[in-house]
Amino acid sequence: MSRMPVIFIGHGSPMNAIEENQFTREWMRIGKSLPRPSVIVSVSAHWFTSGTRIMTTEEPRMVYDMYGFPKELYEVKYPVKGDFKTADMIKRNISVNVEEDNSWGIDHGTWSVLCRMYPDADIPVLQLSVDANATTSEHYKIGQQLKSLRNQGALILGSGNIVHNLSMVNWDMDEEGYAWALNFDQYIYNNIMSHDYESVIQYHKAGESASFAVPSMDHFAPLFYILGASEPEDDIDVINKNCVLGSLSMTSYIWK
Ligand code: ZN
Repeated sequence: MSRMPVIFIGHGSPMNAIEENQFTREWMRIGKSLPRPSVIVSVSAHWFTSGTRIMTTEEPRMVYDMYGFPKELYEVKYPVKGDFKTADMIKRNISVNVEEDNSWGIDHGTWSVLCRMYPDADIPVLQLSVDANATTSEHYKIGQQLKSLRNQGALILGSGNIVHNLSMVNWDMDEEGYAWALNFDQYIYNNIMSHDYESVIQYHKAGESASFAVPSMDHFAPLFYILGASEPEDDIDVINKNCVLGSLSMTSYIWK
């Protein structure tokens, strides 16, 4: 079996699950063009927990973890199966303690993207949480320990946003970013493209833009799991390199 890609998606607004736009068209395109996985392991910004947790159930529920959106969005169904065997393998591969937790489910960080990439919902999905107490290098290390799954047909997906500052969202900046947002997004881009992952891990080196772009780690941290699971010889594709609403970046990376 050939090595599966690893993907970081900037998911942006949950409305991307039901609105067609330039970003969701790219998600649809890559879903069709990348090799088909046997299982998807999703590290979602929206499962931000104390310690690392994993979903082991074969019947995950959907979580509608967003507020104040149109009714239509709460009617989206993404009825996938879980995958106990893969969850168990991950638990054994990761050197930190991983707690089984089926109290959460498939949240919108995962389903808003996957309902575009794989609309038939016929590939099992499990979520691994983002440890709120871990450092960037600890997230990266967990990602390295997930790497072997790539040779077993698993697609590892990180879903977050490289720039994510909801308190600075500007509804008049539809497809634009503030200078600090563009700067930080470019800093990460430059270092990823030159394989200088240490400078991504040390993202504060970007300067003042870092504290605006990453006011909390939840949406940024999934990137490190994906960086860790990448291989130096992977080709890197960049899609949706764009900022929206001033303070969100949609920039997404595929290592394949
Ligand atoms: Zn989000």
